[in-house]
Amino acid sequence: MKDAETFPTDPHPWSVLREAADEALRFLEGLGGRRVGPVATAEELRTALGGPLPDGPEYPDRTLARLAEAAEAGLVGTPGPRYFGFVVGGSLPAALAADWLASAWDQNAGLYIASPAAAVVEEVTGGWLADLLRLPSGISAGFVTGGQMANVTGLAAARHQVLAQVGWDVERRGLIGAPDVRVVVGEERHVTVDQALRMLGLGTDATIVVPADGQGRLRADALADVLDRPGSGPLIVCAQAGNVNTGAFDPLAVTCDLVHAQGGWVHIDGAFGLWAAASDALRLLVRGAEQADSWATDAHKWPGVPYDSGLAFCAHPRAHRAAMRIQASYLVPGGEARDNMNFTPEASRRARGLPVYAALRSLGRSGVAALVERCCAHARWFAASLGAAGGVEICNEVVLNQVLVRFLAADGHHDARTRAVIKRVQRDGTCWLGGTTWQGQALMRISVSNWSTTTDDVDRSVEAILRCARE
Ligand SMILES: *Cc1c(COP(=O)(O)O)cnc(C)c1O
Repeated sequence: MKDAETFPTDPHPWSVLREAADEALRFLEGLGGRRVGPVATAEELRTALGGPLPDGPEYPDRTLARLAEAAEAGLVGTPGPRYFGFVVGGSLPAALAADWLASAWDQNAGLYIASPAAAVVEEVTGGWLADLLRLPSGISAGFVTGGQMANVTGLAAARHQVLAQVGWDVERRGLIGAPDVRVVVGEERHVTVDQALRMLGLGTDATIVVPADGQGRLRADALADVLDRPGSGPLIVCAQAGNVNTGAFDPLAVTCDLVHAQGGWVHIDGAFGLWAAASDALRLLVRGAEQADSWATDAHKWPGVPYDSGLAFCAHPRAHRAAMRIQASYLVPGGEARDNMNFTPEASRRARGLPVYAALRSLGRSGVAALVERCCAHARWFAASLGAAGGVEICNEVVLNQVLVRFLAADGHHDARTRAVIKRVQRDGTCWLGGTTWQGQALMRISVSNWSTTTDDVDRSVEAILRCARE
């Protein structure tokens, strides 16, 4: 086969990247004006995107144009300023551009030898993050896909350490016949903590669940009771910084004190809440977080790194490495700098540190703080504006960027009315937000996590929500 027949190109095979950039600009610059939710149904998208596998090659620009056109109606304005569903940040310009370079450079960031630049960028960025988030210097960092894998990584390090303390090498021997590990979680932990425990072979049946208070915070008195019960040995406690519904924080300082008094390990799931540490105004919420043993957070929620970007930090780099290390005869150890693959579940992977580096560089310390504070101020403005309307109830203490809203119905069917309002808002398209069930009630859930949201975006969204509520 002649090389040139692999695919047809004009004399400039990479010129399609300019068209990709044009397409991206069209999308991004149109976000403020576009309908936020998707337009097409799955069936319409199957028709637009489907059909048989092509028999032969086509020009790259043709492929790109077709893809962009067919996908358009199924795209969601998640990176835009009026998307308030789940907890979804939007890409910062510098982070997105660096992410493009990560793809263009196509480095295998697993090994130092395969990309010294990717290795050193992660080393440097890990240090910046520890500084920014007020975590101890000297912690190790793993750049993973998201909060889910950050929880897996932190808890794998925990599993290693608490079992090593009783003479059990879990990486070699597994969990069959291992000493029991007491795993303690808060009632309102995120579902990915359970998933991590399942993947790590710890399961969920044996977890001890500590009751939470009305805001979803693990109750310190209940944790103390649990830890007072007879039983010693390996102990892992999962705490949370930023509840996915209310934004509330577990009492982290007391938790760390209680658990460390028993020689246990504290893992903090701070997927978005940990970023509060970057702000002087909000830092009190995460007081004590720095005493934990491992932390999970997401750079794709705050401060605006494109998907997928999670971070696992560990105060015990040796445990982190022992849990994640990969060894093979052909994998040459770095020597001069770390091999990233020893700190994440992945082996080969993209240079995920580059966009995080660019986000932090472009915002600086004050920019990250301002971004987080602005989102929280917008959340308070949502709560104040909606709460001032008749028949609307704000159901959480708005301590961070999350707002829970209930629409009261004259007939007492508040759940049905709230669900109906959410549906109408989603159809209306001015903004997008979702629902949740919180303490037995159906509620609207607003999350402000995008750097580009303005007060005007909030006002327009409030107007749309109240209009839908009146219908
Ligand atoms: C989003 C979230 C996760 C999971 O993170 P992913 O990036 O979706 O994997 C875990 N914990 C909390 C508290 C979250 O908000």
